[in-house]
Amino acid sequence: MEELKAQLAQVIRAYHQKGWSPATSTNYSFRNPETPDVIFVSKSGIDKSVFSAADFMEVDMDGKALPAYEGIRPSAETLIHCKLYALFPETMCIVHSHSLYSVLQSMKNEISVSLSGYEVLKGFEGIKTHETTVQVPVFDNTQDMPAFSETLEQEKARLTVPAFIMRQHGTYAWGRNLFEAKRHLETAEYLFEVDWKFSN
Ligand SMILES: [Zn+2]
Repeated sequence: MEELKAQLAQVIRAYHQKGWSPATSTNYSFRNPETPDVIFVSKSGIDKSVFSAADFMEVDMDGKALPAYEGIRPSAETLIHCKLYALFPETMCIVHSHSLYSVLQSMKNEISVSLSGYEVLKGFEGIKTHETTVQVPVFDNTQDMPAFSETLEQEKARLTVPAFIMRQHGTYAWGRNLFEAKRHLETAEYLFEVDWKFSN
């Protein structure tokens, strides 16, 4: 468990270097396959440039802090993590960015970002060729997390790759382990950037 925490903490610090988590923003979580009802989620308000293994706390599948962590605030977006684990039970890790290109793409005001023909599309699980089109859904941003979780449930059919954008906010991506979640976020962010630069 400590090993997993240390590995994700290292990824979080690296993503901060990329400019994906300004001003303490963004949040991350993972589950241990042996105790899937416990979510290890980043605490609220931590500067991601110095994020460490000690900056995770444990919550249940409803986002409620476990007794050992009572009084400590989990990330404001914890309910999104809870909903994704419930909708996709094989998910063991969720990562999030507030990247510039994700925000720029979402400001085209469409309901998805359409990505075609890129080799790196194969970074998404299940995509075997560049000769395809992937739609990454864009959902409107809100501070109402119960409402947003409801949106995710209703729009599950549109989540054909393990990533979505919250408008003018950032990207969520997930996977069956840290390696896969990381690959999915980096795939999405690379594609958002190249596609934005090509069309603008
Ligand atoms: Zn966020």
